[in-house]
Amino acid sequence: MTDAAKCTKVPFRERGQAPPIASGGFLLEEFSWERGPFTRCAKCGHEAMGILSAGGQLLTKRCTNCRRMVQIPLPELDKKAIYLDQFMFSMIYNVKNGGNLPKGHEAFAKEVYALLRRCVLLQQVFLPHSDIHHDETTVFHSPIDLRGLYEFFGGDVSVMDSRDVKLLQDIQFAKAYFDGNEPEVSLDIDEIADSRRNEWLPDMHVGVRADYSQFADHIRTVRSDVHDALKQLADTWVKNKASFGGVLESEFAAIGPTKGQAFANWLEEVSNPDPSDPLALFESSGRPIYREYRELCHLLEDRGVDEDNQAIEIMRFWHWERQREIPHQKISSYLFAAVAKRVVMGEKKIVDRGLINDVRTISTYAPYVDALFIDKRCAALLKEEPLRAELDYKARVFSMRDPDEFLEYLREIEGQTPDEVREYAAMIYGID
Ligand SMILES: [Zn+2]
Repeated sequence: MTDAAKCTKVPFRERGQAPPIASGGFLLEEFSWERGPFTRCAKCGHEAMGILSAGGQLLTKRCTNCRRMVQIPLPELDKKAIYLDQFMFSMIYNVKNGGNLPKGHEAFAKEVYALLRRCVLLQQVFLPHSDIHHDETTVFHSPIDLRGLYEFFGGDVSVMDSRDVKLLQDIQFAKAYFDGNEPEVSLDIDEIADSRRNEWLPDMHVGVRADYSQFADHIRTVRSDVHDALKQLADTWVKNKASFGGVLESEFAAIGPTKGQAFANWLEEVSNPDPSDPLALFESSGRPIYREYRELCHLLEDRGVDEDNQAIEIMRFWHWERQREIPHQKISSYLFAAVAKRVVMGEKKIVDRGLINDVRTISTYAPYVDALFIDKRCAALLKEEPLRAELDYKARVFSMRDPDEFLEYLREIEGQTPDEVREYAAMIYGID
């Protein structure tokens, strides 16, 4: 990533410039690191106390005249996590770059752009980015710029990769199973968001421009394989006139066998490596199923289970009937059952290339984030019974079905910004 990674500095505001001074008949613009607004310096009395830097928990001010420096602790924050899907990020990208906006939603696009930016700069909101975005961004026409956009525009807080979130929940259930306790999963955003969530954004943003386009072909292939598999599944649903309850039950029943099979496949791969593909072995060491297996072995080791008995215990855990209560398993199974119902009713178009990622996004992140802006079709499924009554997650769900509802939500957050935070944000980021 050496050649592809370039550092760019994007100033939130222009650095300050002291007033021009006359020098031998020429006007020189004298550069200063401090920038406005300038206030009176307690030491020298000049109106020269400007902002030197801001970010984290501190605002640093310095006098351009006598160099006196003060550090001011910034108010504590509690930012809300608003997860936007790739469609929204692409739209924001197009507003920013004058691209095509979705027909009939031009006004919404511009307004949501302005409101989101404002909420982010008021330090009330961050727009987390995840591996699901990164995969989709890689196949976008301007991947580098789009990635830069959600790192810059969204307040640059990433959340754990979806597979790590799943693993986290699986491990919490495994502990309960091995110890004979009631499963407990903490769904606090801080479990999955990086620790800088509640820091003030730096007044200068430094982003690494990394080019991931070399992975685009691989991602396209994987996605079309998954899509083909799902289309086949949809045909089976139609042929068997599958019901919601039937598909839900078979999704749940498949958890243990699917994990067992995935593990057997992995074992097969590493036992008979393809000599023409040395990378394959390396790749298989990162497989989610292997990672889960290894973590579970550690748990069992800690509990004094010897190596010979670990595999059998893990198989038992994978077949535990309460696997279906693990949040990501439960939500994705309900969504697939709801999709199956629609497909059987003749709505085959619901199974498209984006569906898997939508299901992944919702089942992974809905329990943790404050709001999700997702595809219309999945938002509609979540509002149907029994999903509405039986699924339990924190996020408020928004979609293009009711764009005004989302704008209203953002205006509410905007309006609830504490005065002190608003004043500092105005000073640091230049918003009014
Ligand atoms: Zn001074």
